[in-house]
Amino acid sequence: MRYISTRGGISPITFSEAVMMGLASDGGLLLPEKLPEATPEQLQRWQGLDYPSLALEIMSLFSGDVSREILQELIETSYSTFDTREVTPLVQRGDLYILELFHGPTLAFKDVALQFLGNLFAHLLKEQNSYMNILGATSGDTGSAAIYGVKGKENIDIFILHPHGRVSKMQALQMTTVPDKNCFNLAIEGTFDDCQAIVKSIFNDLDFKKEYRLGAINSINWARVLAQVVYYVYAALKLLGQGHEKVSFSVPTGNFGDIFAGYVAKRLLPSQIDRLILATNENNILTRFVVEGLYEKGQVVQTISPSMDIQIASNFERYLYYLFGCDADRVRRAMASFEQEGVIRFSEEEIKRAQEDFASYSIDQDETVATIGDFYRNQGYVCDPHTAVGVAAARRFLKEHQDNVPIVCLATAHPCKFPEAVEKATGKPVEMPERIKGLEKLPQRYEVMPPEVERVKSYVREHGIKK
Ligand SMILES: *Cc1c(COP(=O)(O)O)cnc(C)c1O
Repeated sequence: MRYISTRGGISPITFSEAVMMGLASDGGLLLPEKLPEATPEQLQRWQGLDYPSLALEIMSLFSGDVSREILQELIETSYSTFDTREVTPLVQRGDLYILELFHGPTLAFKDVALQFLGNLFAHLLKEQNSYMNILGATSGDTGSAAIYGVKGKENIDIFILHPHGRVSKMQALQMTTVPDKNCFNLAIEGTFDDCQAIVKSIFNDLDFKKEYRLGAINSINWARVLAQVVYYVYAALKLLGQGHEKVSFSVPTGNFGDIFAGYVAKRLLPSQIDRLILATNENNILTRFVVEGLYEKGQVVQTISPSMDIQIASNFERYLYYLFGCDADRVRRAMASFEQEGVIRFSEEEIKRAQEDFASYSIDQDETVATIGDFYRNQGYVCDPHTAVGVAAARRFLKEHQDNVPIVCLATAHPCKFPEAVEKATGKPVEMPERIKGLEKLPQRYEVMPPEVERVKSYVREHGIKK
């Protein structure tokens, strides 16, 4: 399998090259040349496989130049850090299924992709006798998942900027208590936007970027999407094995990475995966796109599901490529229009096609809190606020469609990561899982720093890998 850019400006590259490139060099996003569709024989063979074995089958369809043997090793290592062999258990609660994606080391779904990406980076760097300094900004969750993905790895250092005093206590502890020498936390005296602006500015210094081989861990890396395709297929096969003919998914969405993986899974199993329900909070640019056919930037609103407080969905361009019938020129024009006017317009036919791919609902915070409380009282299940947005959207969908297709709601974080909102909704303190008990007793490592590009650069110069 070879990889191309949504904007058509690169000649096809290998899987390894795509992983190392991250963002395509023409400013677009990388995609496989062709999206595979599973044959009936494959479907039969995959039925009943455990998670790592299924991951191997799915990922081999896309991984070209990485051998099956190595891929298997990377997958085994990546998911051995999860607290269950099932990796992503599926549980039934009333008329909904919950796919728990939070059994990794930082208790959020980003572990599923970042554990794999960390191991894949380490493997490719070793093979190329190279090194990488990862630089990223976080408002909380991605940073810790990225640090846990690469901690202790040879030839990789990671520098994560977070806004000092503006991430939750647990988020800060998850990042700063990691003792490995290759992990650096920079607590920036400013906002998340300041952190992001600094990172962006350093990536724009091309000499510096080259000298330190700066790497990014944001959700545009193809390997992240790929790792997420697996759990859709895993859940679908389980329900098909129980006699269902089709399955739908409800996905709490921010950057469109997770639901794009769902789209790839739907292309792989077109007759088995029915609807993708795109659930948003008040930051509903994507719901407006599906419902009204207009993709228009708004103001970011802060909510109790902060990982979805996003107005520009960085993976959306990948879907646009398919929506526009693989017309890279059309993608380029659309993205230019979005940059200049903050809006993309669509034809009637395109809107219709998008509405066949997705249903979408925007859930406000009152409904989110009510859903957590309600689901707890009626089903004895505690959802985190992100998961609750997806559950609420699934319920709205069920009210409008009586089609008996089971809906799988993706549970993207453990409720203990957002204790205030959850306790308010259930009236009970959230239970803490073993793996994060006692974090506050561990020594913390972080460097407080003013929001200045030069200060961050000299810190990387002083501590980063350079050969
Ligand atoms: C990142 C995240 C999301 C949103 O996922 P996208 O891939 O950005 O759409 C949802 N919930 C949680 C808990 C997250 O950390």
